[in-house]
Amino acid sequence: MQSRTQQLWLRLGNLGLRLAKAAQRLGEFAEHSAWRLSARRVGLGLAAALTALFVVAGGLAPTVAMLGLLATTAFLALWPADGAAHAAATASAQAGVDRERLWQLVVDAMPEPAVALNGMARIVHANQLAEDQFGAGRRGGHIASMSRDPGLLAAVEEALATRRAQSVELHGRVPVERRLLAAVAPIGEGASQLREVPTLLITFRDLSEQDRLARMRADFVANASHELRTPLAYLKGSVETLLGPARDDAAARDTFLKTMGEQAERMSRLVDDLLSLSRVEMREYLPPSGEADLGAVLADVAHTMEPIAQQAGASFSLTGLNVAGPVRGDHDELAQVFQNLIQNAIKYGREGGKVDMRLSREPREGRVVRYRVDVIDDGPGIAPQHLPRLTERFYRVNVVASRERGGTGLGLAIVKHILNRHRGELLITSELGHGSTFSVILPGLPG
Ligand code: ADP
Repeated sequence: MQSRTQQLWLRLGNLGLRLAKAAQRLGEFAEHSAWRLSARRVGLGLAAALTALFVVAGGLAPTVAMLGLLATTAFLALWPADGAAHAAATASAQAGVDRERLWQLVVDAMPEPAVALNGMARIVHANQLAEDQFGAGRRGGHIASMSRDPGLLAAVEEALATRRAQSVELHGRVPVERRLLAAVAPIGEGASQLREVPTLLITFRDLSEQDRLARMRADFVANASHELRTPLAYLKGSVETLLGPARDDAAARDTFLKTMGEQAERMSRLVDDLLSLSRVEMREYLPPSGEADLGAVLADVAHTMEPIAQQAGASFSLTGLNVAGPVRGDHDELAQVFQNLIQNAIKYGREGGKVDMRLSREPREGRVVRYRVDVIDDGPGIAPQHLPRLTERFYRVNVVASRERGGTGLGLAIVKHILNRHRGELLITSELGHGSTFSVILPGLPG
């Protein structure tokens, strides 16, 4: 026989348990409701109310009632936080529902073309980049419907059989020559035969851009060495001649020394331009922090270039200076841009021709003010096929003509990098027989 106190404890225990469950359910309800009540507080309130009812109506001893109430409180206190428990339960249910959508979103968000395959090498999902690159492969179709490359198909077979990651190089020729690296990676433990379950993930990295940069670097070194080697070879040959056959020939010595001086000058110009190019390239991604006034920059440039134009027999004019041109920029770098353009206009323009530099304000686009500087010459002009390549390093329309005029083939490349840094643009318009116009557009400071 159980004593009355024991029976009471049992009843109280049961009651506590039921109260806790009711509290949890109420908490869950509260979680969904706008009030977001705490399950604990609801449970405790109910327990207190019921205990008071037992004491008043059922004759329960107050000490026992107090003990019961304490036990319920302790039980509820140890119950996991209702919000967190509920949130975890909701999240895990949601995750189950959205799992498929979730991995598809991950594949879609990848920055490279990516294709997920099931255990039978069939396409479960492909992101937009993969579809752009290989054409839209049929969902559920074999990977061969996207790419027939034997290397890729073999890597997929191998990855499915061994569950080990594979990588393979693919070469494409259409529409342009391309080199891709495909990484085939198993997902999860085993290969699933289920239609919708992704088992392999293939990602493609385009190595063509990397190849292009490596080629450019190699070309640049080859070009720079070639440009230096020519005057150096001349200097070496002249020294040998002066030490040998021309040792006692005063007239020949003078001629050789004069040309040696010119070649040394050419080498020094090339080294200066190479250093200048490397400096501006390094800072290209660092926008200038200072302010410059285009009017003041052009006035300085005009001051330096006027005597050079006169020496070359060209006339030089600067117009539009009444326009104020405050820009975010570096005064010296901007001066270098216009000096290079005027030097070219003098070098490649008509003998005894005109060079004009004009500053103007572009028509407003919203609140943005843009300034334009045109450097106009009346020389023979440039054939249209050369225009897009003029800013490439060492690109020259006529190498001999450029060398004769002291050109290095780096001037416009330097101009382009400085303008990139200043968020500016270079437009080149020219017509054979009708001169050329090199226009610089720069964003102005908000006024
Ligand atoms: P360079 O040191 O040879 O002058 P640039 O990079 O400054 O090198 O110019 C590249 C080429 O663009 C020049 O070699 C020349 O053929 C052509 N060019 C530049 N400016 C003009 C111009 N105003 N008129 C005709 N050709 C020009």
